Amino acid sequence: MVQSLFKCEECGAVYETLAIAQKCEEHCRKFNACNMQYLKESVGRLSNSKLNY
Ligand SMILES: [Zn+2]
Repeated sequence: MVQSLFKCEECGAVYETLAIAQKCEEHCRKFNACNMQYLKESVGRLSNSKLNY
């Protein structure tokens, strides 16, 4: 089953919901750092177009 995932373009963290992905992206842009609160919700990280769990 294919699940749609949403990525923070700034840090590459992948989320199950668009809302949190956008929040992470906003935070990353503003503070140039990741918010651990959001990263906890992340299902993985996208780096070099490869999904690492
Ligand atoms: Zn982020």
